[in-house]
Amino acid sequence: MLDGQLHKDLRLNSYGSYLRHRFQCRVSKVNVDGGFTCPNRDGSRGTDGCIYCNNSSFSPAGTQPVIPIETQMAEGMAYHRRRLGSAKFIIYFQKFTNTYAPVEKLRDLYQRALAHPDVLGISIGTRPDALSNEALDLLTGLARNHYVCLELGLQSMDDAILRRINRGHTLAEYLQAVDRLAGRGIELCTHLIYGFPGETRAGFLRTADLMASLPVNSLKIHQLHAVQGTELAQMYWRGEFTPLSHGEYVAAVCDFLERIPPQITIQRLYGSAPLAIRVAPNWDLKNNQMWYSVVNELKRRGSWQGCRLTGECCKAANSEW
Ligand code: SF4
Repeated sequence: MLDGQLHKDLRLNSYGSYLRHRFQCRVSKVNVDGGFTCPNRDGSRGTDGCIYCNNSSFSPAGTQPVIPIETQMAEGMAYHRRRLGSAKFIIYFQKFTNTYAPVEKLRDLYQRALAHPDVLGISIGTRPDALSNEALDLLTGLARNHYVCLELGLQSMDDAILRRINRGHTLAEYLQAVDRLAGRGIELCTHLIYGFPGETRAGFLRTADLMASLPVNSLKIHQLHAVQGTELAQMYWRGEFTPLSHGEYVAAVCDFLERIPPQITIQRLYGSAPLAIRVAPNWDLKNNQMWYSVVNELKRRGSWQGCRLTGECCKAANSEW
């Protein structure tokens, strides 16, 4: 039987539904660029960055650091109000590593974001190795009166893969960061990617078991994709990276979701890059088409998020892919 926390049509706990239920209105995340850099690019941890990283691939046009965040917020909020009828907003500091700066800069940016009357909270994208005690204390203070979510990139729990993709941190550092967040009133979202060279579906599913064992509030998952200007694109052209098929990815994500407790919300199931820089794979699906290919596969299996944890999956045992 579907857990009460799951959306009955989607068969998973969508973050959008969670926000709507929690805040009793439609809430959108608005991306802003706070003008940060990244320790894996500025030489502190490395200079080349993760092999798949090209920040233009995950930043909507219009969020440039030279633009004051109030202007970026106003544009983003107007867009979401017009398109979705959103009433309230969470400001998402997305580009690069958004805790990697002196705490005075962090305080200024976060407080300016929270000063808008229609802003409920902030979401901060960062790395496990870039969380100073001062930054954590600042976020803890803000979380007393606002929604605060820390989005930690893990990507893979396999240290050999983390080394191969030049991630510049280890699983142990992620686990330490999770420990340090405990009891601070800050929500934790973990970012994961499936499809790294040499990664197996069994390895990816072990990550689901790890997530189920941790105080993770939400997850973002996407397929590994190569975009121009990255080492991964070079690997693809040299024949060293074979992207997943759409079917393999959907099957693996459903296997993954079946192992994730129903209280963990799902923020993302798919990644897309602008066509102009996309190299591979090229599934040519819109976000909602991708979302529904996962939902339809769960329906076909007769399964749902977390069903394997209670042994209630009936037809779910194997995918057809
Ligand atoms: S941590 Fe993020 S911003 Fe830094 S190199 Fe990796 S993907 Fe790029």
